[in-house]
Amino acid sequence: MVPEEFVACHDCDLIHRIPVGQEGRSGRCTRCGAVLFNHKRNTVERTLALTAAGAVLFAVANLFPFLSFDMQGRVTETTLLSGVVELWSQGMGVLAVLVLLTAVIAPGVQLSLLGYVLVPLHAGRVPWRLELALRALRRIETWSMMEVFLIGILVALVKLGRMAEIVPGPAIYSFAILILVLAGAAATLDRRAVWQRLTVGA
Ligand SMILES: [Zn+2]
Repeated sequence: MVPEEFVACHDCDLIHRIPVGQEGRSGRCTRCGAVLFNHKRNTVERTLALTAAGAVLFAVANLFPFLSFDMQGRVTETTLLSGVVELWSQGMGVLAVLVLLTAVIAPGVQLSLLGYVLVPLHAGRVPWRLELALRALRRIETWSMMEVFLIGILVALVKLGRMAEIVPGPAIYSFAILILVLAGAAATLDRRAVWQRLTVGA
């Protein structure tokens, strides 16, 4: 017999009995038609692959030059972190902290948590305090606002373009791709399947 579990519809609260597992299948509420569950295929492996790619992009985004300015022959290179330090020293402390939090710390913590959850699951083990890690992951996702930061940079580039020659560095491209990769990781992670491994015992 296939093991079953109870799921309440998010929209109308009707209780359904659905089979556990069943990768790649989805189901709708029989009363109101809302999506009841959507079991993604190979969720752990796919999300883990995106996390690994994200870690490389994150390293490049932080270590390599973000932008270089050429102002009448004087070339200045900035990295993500030196930009934060520069904002701080110019008296824009709040902005410096916000940039550090949303563009560096949040995505870094997000990638670390994904790795912490997915590497043991992939190896068939349940990580210590999985439930805490998943909750923290959900929290940190709302703080990861790299796209807002990137738009700010692009606006500044257009405005500064007349005053100095600005050359985008490898970090800015990595940063842009990292936004897509992290969004992909959040989309492929099937929290239901991960929770199930916790109850079933991997
Ligand atoms: Zn319903």
